[in-house]
Amino acid sequence: MQIDQKKIDEAVSTIIGYGGTHILDCVGCGACSAVCPGVKAGFDVLCRKLIRKIVTGHLEEIIEETSSWGCQACNRCTEVCPQGVRPQEVVFAFRRYQANELAFSTSSITSQMNLFETGHAVFTDPKANRKKVGLPEEPPTSAYNEQAQKEIQTLMNNSSMGELGLF
Ligand code: SF4
Ligand code: SF4
Repeated sequence: MQIDQKKIDEAVSTIIGYGGTHILDCVGCGACSAVCPGVKAGFDVLCRKLIRKIVTGHLEEIIEETSSWGCQACNRCTEVCPQGVRPQEVVFAFRRYQANELAFSTSSITSQMNLFETGHAVFTDPKANRKKVGLPEEPPTSAYNEQAQKEIQTLMNNSSMGELGLF
């Protein structure tokens, strides 16, 4: 298959521009993928595989890929990489690229909306369960604190996500 150097250059410079600064130092050893909990959980286009897709010019083809949203930011990949690539930064650069193209996964939109409305990315109303075990129905979190919610919403409205018009 013919290599499209222009596509490769564009893909690499896009990811470097979003913060994946050391992507070209990857030698494809796979140490990062071997320790990545995201890969173990089935989000397989992370670490070595994600880097490989980008450096071969397949960035646009994977824009809808959901694996990036499975990254836990644990940085195990960064610790084991012998080349100083910092794969987690490549993953987040890829996420930024996806976000700026409005290519969010459904679960990430849901978690952002939950965060905006309650201050929790994952939120289930706990009142009934708390009542059952004799606890005050509303725990002391942002979900039941109007002032805290307003502050979270102000922060999110002024973030890069807010600038995209998500909220
Ligand atoms: S930071 Fe993300 S990509 Fe790196 S090992 Fe952890 S889950 Fe995997
Ligand atoms: S550990 Fe580093 S050099 Fe090896 S595949 Fe991962 S990013 Fe590339």
